[in-house]
Amino acid sequence: METSTEDIYLFNTMTRNKERFIPNEKGRVGMYTCGLTVYDYGHIGNFRAFIFEDQLRRWLEYRGYKVTQVMNLTDVDDRTIKGSKQQGIPLKQYTERYIKAFFEDLETLNIERAEHYPRATEHISEMVALIKRLLEKGYAYRSEDGSIYYDISKFTGYGKLSKIKLEELKSGARVKADEYEKETAADFALWKAWDQADGEIFWNTEIGKGRPGWHIECSAMSMKYLGEAFDIHCGGIDNMFPHHENEIAQSEAGTGRKFVNYWMHNEHLLVEGRKMAKSLGNYYTVKDLTAKGYDGRVIRYLLLSTHYRQQLNFTFEGLSAAKNTIDRLLNFIRRLQEADGAGFGEELNVLTKRAEMNFEKAMDDDLNISVALAALFDFVREVNTLLDGKLLNKKEAKQVHSLMMKFDMVLGVIGSIEKREKLPKEAEELIKTREEARKARDWKRADQIREQLKTMGIVVEDTADGVKWRKEKT
Ligand SMILES: [Zn+2]
Repeated sequence: METSTEDIYLFNTMTRNKERFIPNEKGRVGMYTCGLTVYDYGHIGNFRAFIFEDQLRRWLEYRGYKVTQVMNLTDVDDRTIKGSKQQGIPLKQYTERYIKAFFEDLETLNIERAEHYPRATEHISEMVALIKRLLEKGYAYRSEDGSIYYDISKFTGYGKLSKIKLEELKSGARVKADEYEKETAADFALWKAWDQADGEIFWNTEIGKGRPGWHIECSAMSMKYLGEAFDIHCGGIDNMFPHHENEIAQSEAGTGRKFVNYWMHNEHLLVEGRKMAKSLGNYYTVKDLTAKGYDGRVIRYLLLSTHYRQQLNFTFEGLSAAKNTIDRLLNFIRRLQEADGAGFGEELNVLTKRAEMNFEKAMDDDLNISVALAALFDFVREVNTLLDGKLLNKKEAKQVHSLMMKFDMVLGVIGSIEKREKLPKEAEELIKTREEARKARDWKRADQIREQLKTMGIVVEDTADGVKWRKEKT
């Protein structure tokens, strides 16, 4: 039986309230997450959103839900077309490069794969079908150039997500661009009739020669993979208006049903206190940071450790602090693996139960990561004290280790130490040579090599079980 402690509460942007999560279908979650417009490499602001969504996904899985996540790839829109023209290469070739990089970045940041990554260019017929439905129902109309617009005055709920007031809008005003500001809310393009600027990019369809607008892409693709009504729709706060507002208008007018039950938005990312912009020189992709030597898990930790509804100020100081935190965690795991003390007894259960409960309670509360992490680090501190006193026996250390691994199902920052800590070939050779020196009782040589390894950041210890090594904390 479900108990109230396992209820998950999520902040729903639609109602501006935390609500108990109740899925449409018991035990299952359908979740749509607006993906990347592949006109450039994803920047850390994009990945803040993707990591928030990954955290949500992992938490739902932790709580036993079977998640179906869909993340679109916008590979045709104003920006991708402009970019491919500027570089003089076909659209597909242009977007492919960024799609490939996107999947590499997911790997780097240990983001779980969604079940579907639909591409807009492969779903034109679904978009055309939805536009036809909107035309038939009178929510859309054709303009002089053959483009098709959504008539926002026809949809009574228009503005309900972003809370914009329709009476402030000029009736009949139109906007053809995919991106626009709240101040210019107007009828928006569902289908853009071909013009010279589109060059080779067009589809010949029942509704004419042209290409889809950006917003219709997400309505058509989410409904294809998740059904006309699904549980959760996520995205960055920038996408709330006009993108998500338009998705609601298109989908609900098309189906006559409520489109999404829970809308979830993550706040902005700032860099060193300022809005990130190429012109300010504070614009970073994931690859920019790994090129500077930062580990993907460190970047991941920094991006996930601020609550998703708070602005995240990305700084290099924060990045080093994240590195220290990850090192601390890894050291802790290593100590657990080596623990062989007398045994602490029943009390340990109290500590683990409390840590687990506090962590879970926090995450159930709209993914309150700061409180969850505090619970985790309190626990680490307590157990470290036990380890200092050589109080944990092997079995108890294993118990703690399993709880840490359980937490890591959600955090995704520890993983398998053995896999992460591969020695450089040179160090491996040195350790072997040192072993030989020790066997030959050449202590002087052995000590020299130990020092040499130390300069490489590798500490070797001679224990009863043989030689152990670890990377030094930096
Ligand atoms: Zn979208």
